[in-house]
Amino acid sequence: MESQHLTLSTLASMEDYDPNSMPVEQARQLIKQFLSPVTETETIKVQDAYHRTLAADILSPINVPPHDYSSMDGYAVRAADLGSPGNKLKKIGSSFAGHGFEGTVAAGECVRIMTGATIPSGCDSVVMQEQVSAEGDSITFNAACKRGQNIRLVGEDIQQGAVVLAQGQRINPAEMGLLASLGFAEITVFRKLKIAIFSTGDELVQPGNALSGGQIYDSNRFTLVGLLTELGAEILDMGNIRDDKNAVRAALQKASGLADVIITSGGVSVGDADYIKELLDELGEVVFWKLAMKPGRPLAYGKVGHCHFFGLPGNPVAVMVTFLQFVRNALWELMGQHPKPAFSFQAICTTPIKKAQGRTEFQRGILTQSDDGLWTVQTTGEQGSGILSSMSRANCFIVLPMEQGNVEKGSVVQIQLF
Ligand code: AMP
Ligand code: MG
Repeated sequence: MESQHLTLSTLASMEDYDPNSMPVEQARQLIKQFLSPVTETETIKVQDAYHRTLAADILSPINVPPHDYSSMDGYAVRAADLGSPGNKLKKIGSSFAGHGFEGTVAAGECVRIMTGATIPSGCDSVVMQEQVSAEGDSITFNAACKRGQNIRLVGEDIQQGAVVLAQGQRINPAEMGLLASLGFAEITVFRKLKIAIFSTGDELVQPGNALSGGQIYDSNRFTLVGLLTELGAEILDMGNIRDDKNAVRAALQKASGLADVIITSGGVSVGDADYIKELLDELGEVVFWKLAMKPGRPLAYGKVGHCHFFGLPGNPVAVMVTFLQFVRNALWELMGQHPKPAFSFQAICTTPIKKAQGRTEFQRGILTQSDDGLWTVQTTGEQGSGILSSMSRANCFIVLPMEQGNVEKGSVVQIQLF
């Protein structure tokens, strides 16, 4: 797709928007307008394809099943021979999966057959073995037979030439098996997205070292590595950059020469050591930098050269929330996929929640099913955006929309599973 040269001013004239307090849904739509997926492709083995993206439709080269098959262990018969229960037929051979019966079955004859074996020529039905009694080669059929029963027909699952998977499909385990079942050893996928990450902050120390006064461990980069690994991206980990305008500028310039996307954490607020927005103005373009949401109010999106830039907040929970709510879908789209909005449903909230109107909140929740099958959710407790253990304990977001005020115990709330 041709990349679109949208600028802040063209966007501003297109719609009312406030980059200083952008509603969540508007921010999602805005980001979408800038995304042009990668176009370069590569051919890889199916066993290496997990979480890659199909670059072309997959047409089935074969019928599935490729022959008429038995779906039961039993006897292949001609239904016309079995008018009434008690009919006897002569067994003239056997058909095993992988070793079919070679001859043709005539009136009055039948063939022992196993599940997955091809239907012998002349037969049109299979009677399960529980419905017969065998004495040597004389087989008595004790139940009625409906023509075509217990046979999987050629092409019944997939017809040769049918589109089985569409371009843009993410390859999950089911797709890996499906591709193999059609005989594909290799497939063509879009190249991996290159994503440069760095954290910012003078207070950050790398795990493995001792902390001294005022320092904390850099956890955001590790969360991001996990999130990006799950997406099958190529990660360029640039470490931690100190709160120095020149250092952050150099890091952004270097990253923009190497990657498709830059994701940073920290330094997007308006503190004295927060340079991200300023530098984005200088090196590229800022589309927005503050959202009407919690956690994750400072979230910058823009471009540095051809690179998409996501400046995530410093707070560890906010990093995960903003990534899952904005960045992930954008990355999927850049990878050539067609992501759907997150799957969500309703549950009864068993804890009261304090909530101010005018912003979307993503509280961490623990969803459980009670004995009567009802889904209930409680918050993980204290929702401070630095409490990363809340993300680890939670299994869902409780999504509270803009206009929502306080939530009373027992109310219905919207849930998004992790
Ligand atoms: P900032 O947006 O840079 O002001 O950071 C907000 C808060 O998040 C501060 O308390 C930071 O110390 C903390 N923080 C920033 N970056 C990280 C990081 N990489 N890992 C853990 N905490 C961080
Ligand atoms: Mg900082």
